[in-house]
Amino acid sequence: MEEFYKLINQIAQNKIEFTQGSTLILNHANFEFELVFTLLRNYIFNSIPEKVNYTTETYMQAIASIPLKPTLTPVVILKSFPTKIAFNKLETLRKDEQQKTIIALLWIFKQTDTQRRNTECKNGCGHDWHNI
Ligand SMILES: [Zn+2]
Repeated sequence: MEEFYKLINQIAQNKIEFTQGSTLILNHANFEFELVFTLLRNYIFNSIPEKVNYTTETYMQAIASIPLKPTLTPVVILKSFPTKIAFNKLETLRKDEQQKTIIALLWIFKQTDTQRRNTECKNGCGHDWHNI
């Protein structure tokens, strides 16, 4: 788990290039969809300041700019449903949709975390993962 915590945050902070980083995660010897999905869901929800619907301008823009074909199932789900419902649906997708789901979530977290680092964390914060 430690290795994914580190990789995800290094990708979010541009210390590892996005495509290279997502490949590292997906090809990691210890990769398990459930584990990485759960980490990303928690990170994304934590990074969104709006805790009722988990929707912000940055989140909406992140979804609109996911670097995958817009017709792919995980992208369609994220665009069509409220955040929490979309994540519940993503969790139960078929195995062949799981890699695309992780790429989409990594992208979203990179945007929402960057927004947080540029605003609420700007003048220093106590987040361990922002000092990785
Ligand atoms: Zn922080």
